[in-house]
Amino acid sequence: MKPLGPIPPGFSSIGGELAVQGIAARELVERAGDTPCFVYSSDMLRARVASLRAAMPDRLAIHYAMKANPFAPVLKLMASLVDGIDIASAGELALAQAAGMDASKISFAGPGKRDRDLEAAIAAGVTLNLESEGECERALAIGQRIGVQPRLAVRVNPEFDLRGSGMRMGGGAKPFGIDQARVPALVRHILAEGAHWRGFHIFAGSQALDADAIIDTQGKTLDLAAQLADEAGAVPEHLNLGGGMGIPYFPGDTPVDIARVGAALGERFAALPDTLRDTHFAMELGRWLVGEAGVYLTRIVDRKTSHGELYLVTDGGLHHQLAASGNFGTVVRRNYPVAIASHFDADPSEEANVVGCLCTPLDRLADKAHLPEAQVGDLVAVFCAGAYGATASPADFLGHGKAAEILV
Ligand SMILES: *Cc1c(COP(=O)(O)O)cnc(C)c1O
Repeated sequence: MKPLGPIPPGFSSIGGELAVQGIAARELVERAGDTPCFVYSSDMLRARVASLRAAMPDRLAIHYAMKANPFAPVLKLMASLVDGIDIASAGELALAQAAGMDASKISFAGPGKRDRDLEAAIAAGVTLNLESEGECERALAIGQRIGVQPRLAVRVNPEFDLRGSGMRMGGGAKPFGIDQARVPALVRHILAEGAHWRGFHIFAGSQALDADAIIDTQGKTLDLAAQLADEAGAVPEHLNLGGGMGIPYFPGDTPVDIARVGAALGERFAALPDTLRDTHFAMELGRWLVGEAGVYLTRIVDRKTSHGELYLVTDGGLHHQLAASGNFGTVVRRNYPVAIASHFDADPSEEANVVGCLCTPLDRLADKAHLPEAQVGDLVAVFCAGAYGATASPADFLGHGKAAEILV
């Protein structure tokens, strides 16, 4: 038996079935049209943003890193709730603008921005988070050619990284950002070229659950921004502090104590050095904002045994749920929160392997899970499916097609 991850709060049951926002699983599948499907809850998204705002200092703006979930209805709702959107491609720029986000509130990070991506962003008035000196030169040249003053922030590759981070983004050699020692010279160059220098972007890691690690990183980020500004002899108008807050996926994981993070940030904001006194601060989050607000529903199509082990074979799998299958940045495969949605209230009575429909042993949704008895036709729910699910999985692999998505 292997434990399952913790089911996030906010789900209920109706007639024994899992319900999202008061709608039972079978009804959700009907609305989506078929299984497998992703269901996102607007109530949960709203509550999440509200709880973050309540915990953080008023001065902190909240940005949504849309790569976590770019589904148009989700993006439109998020655009109405947050202060800015962070994009990572020209494709995301088009989606963010279609969702109603003002270009002046969009920032564009990511290595490998092509000239046409830079041009689209500069023409629209988006802030570029520069990933290299070379990218800066190209942006300046494009700005000159099209007669638009580019809005340029410098993404810093800090010497520190976020402790306990699932994905390390700073510290040592990285394809992201500009090594901190070279940043002041670049800022002076941007100013000398007459571009609009927007400030710094310092993103040190993601998927951290430990509030102390996040507090420590935010403190170092503020210190570094002040130091770089002093060295550059310029006051940053904006500081993007990165994100880093993760969600519990696995047995034993606990949520980030956002009240502590907010209180510590409030203390830092109350004692800022002169260089940062008038700076606007933002945090950019993807997973933490949307991850728990989504559930993936898939139907059991076969129930079989092999060498005494029970297999529940579903019509979903890693082509929609790469991370839950354990194949997206995890070393040891552990179980996500998974439940039999059709018997959400029932007590566990058997040990089952829940697998997907792909012809690969990698396609597992839950190993040796203790679950209520489930039959062909029953629905399985994979929780924490709101971030890095539908668009971060290889939907074309094996030709089963995309999952449906709905926002309720
Ligand atoms: C992916 C990304 C984020 C969002 O990370 P989460 O872990 O989903 O919060 C934020 N900022 C940048 C620059 C990113 O690349």
